[in-house]
Amino acid sequence: MTSLIRYVPGSGPLVLDSPHSGVNYPEDFRPACDLAILRRAEDTHVEKLYDFAPALGCAWIEALFPRSYLDANRGLHEVDTGLLSDPWPDPIEEDAVRLAKVRLGKGLVWRCTDDGLDIYDRKLSSAEVRARIENCWEPYHAAVAAAVEAAHAAHGYSIHLNCHSMPSVAASHATEFPGLAHPDFVVGDRDGTTASTALSQRICAILRGMGYDVAYNHPYKGVELVRRYGDPQRHRHSIQVELNRKLYMDEETLQPHAGLAALRANLHALVQELRATDPRTLD
Ligand SMILES: [Zn+2]
Repeated sequence: MTSLIRYVPGSGPLVLDSPHSGVNYPEDFRPACDLAILRRAEDTHVEKLYDFAPALGCAWIEALFPRSYLDANRGLHEVDTGLLSDPWPDPIEEDAVRLAKVRLGKGLVWRCTDDGLDIYDRKLSSAEVRARIENCWEPYHAAVAAAVEAAHAAHGYSIHLNCHSMPSVAASHATEFPGLAHPDFVVGDRDGTTASTALSQRICAILRGMGYDVAYNHPYKGVELVRRYGDPQRHRHSIQVELNRKLYMDEETLQPHAGLAALRANLHALVQELRATDPRTLD
């Protein structure tokens, strides 16, 4: 099987990853719903917005598989057993907050779209889900872990930006806040547990200085990828950056619009500034 992830190791302290921008729909996916509807789950074009990252020495990890096939921003226990045709052999999620997401149809393998439409007209076998984990989740997480370790080993700290985009308005089954109009950016560090709050606030300030409307930890705090790799006490900072799709694309046609170049230039400036920021000197 060809690789379902792209990993470009870096030399600097920054690690960027895009878990939801993949558009290579594997043959064994066999969804029952329309591809056009399914594609709305993608953080489409996020990889284009940050395509400057490797040239700046940042490590870059990108999922090429679609988020609706396997969501790399979930834990391995977040399996929706209602979607399976046979018993799941491994432990399943017990935490109430995480379980709520699974019940919404947004576990490791999604049951329904953001609009609440069923993705499949069949049950999936445990072996099928296991194969997705082995082909997608494991190599993706191995790459992020390796990149964070390498950055930390070389510089004594790491800054991991977990890169996403969000629709301009939250859909009915997307989050706990259906119908919410999103700001331009939402910066999340799980309430200061995955990064130094001074660093996260610095990112908010840089973006506000560019004229953006920026929220902090609301309505998105960050999920599995920042939770797993962020450990600010050990100088490993992981921050989720959600940006509004209306800034760079037509949300109906998924085509990028003229705003993409300006947004990309601003993200380039943000990353440049972070390259010159040692979080140990903040606070
Ligand atoms: Zn995302």
